[in-house]
Amino acid sequence: MSLLELENVSAAYGPVTVLHGVSVNVERGGATGILGANGAGKTTTLRAISGLVKASGRIVFDGKSILGLRPDQVASLGIAHVPEGRGTLSRLTVRDNLLLGAYLRRDRRAITADLDYCLDLFPQLRTRIRSTGAALSGGEQQMLAIGRAFMSRPRLLLLDEASLGLAPSTSANVYSAVGRLRVESGLSMLVVEQNAALAFTLVDNATVLETGRNVLSGTRTELMGMDSIRKAYLGG
Ligand code: ATP
Repeated sequence: MSLLELENVSAAYGPVTVLHGVSVNVERGGATGILGANGAGKTTTLRAISGLVKASGRIVFDGKSILGLRPDQVASLGIAHVPEGRGTLSRLTVRDNLLLGAYLRRDRRAITADLDYCLDLFPQLRTRIRSTGAALSGGEQQMLAIGRAFMSRPRLLLLDEASLGLAPSTSANVYSAVGRLRVESGLSMLVVEQNAALAFTLVDNATVLETGRNVLSGTRTELMGMDSIRKAYLGG
């Protein structure tokens, strides 16, 4: 049984349907990518899982339907969402942002150890531990958002366009840290990314969305071998 299963999921903003029967799975310990151009429905798919947009179809996490749950209920099941735009708090320090991620936890010692792990994963954050979110660069804010999600010790990470607005070398750093997190903590992930080459450094398999529909799905090797993917998403 997969950790997360979406089958035939549709969603609308008011009268406008933007997802038309999307299906995607995340295996336990696996990382799945959602690729596609601007406006394809990638973000909306993550929002449907998190309960931030009303959806229909089948959304099953760890064997139970989560369709119709509120965002806080979804989060409390262990699904952490790092949204596009990152959502870190600009007035809080790096340390307080990270600890905020752990606010539902009571295991003090493990929280301290996880905080230390986070700062090893993102050494730039260690040097800025007392800076406020507002003082960070875009890359550091992205690291902070991922670190904060990790601090809730989720079972599934939803990562939305972590490379957005970052220099290529910074994106590569962020993805390599997330890859380390995957290997070292066994965290399962659903990763939305426009930059397919970057996504393929992390995910095992992916689906490509176009106007709210799956147009292709496969393993990383299968997809990277397809001419259509190379042309449209890998730059030739
Ligand atoms: P992007 O990379 O630009 O975020 P995406 O693949 O994540 O693209 P979505 O953000 O899911 O795409 O958007 C899918 C469609 O839904 C687009 O046509 C978009 O214009 C529309 N849309 C997104 N958010 C809203 C909203 N709050 N209200 C109305 N329409 C929306």
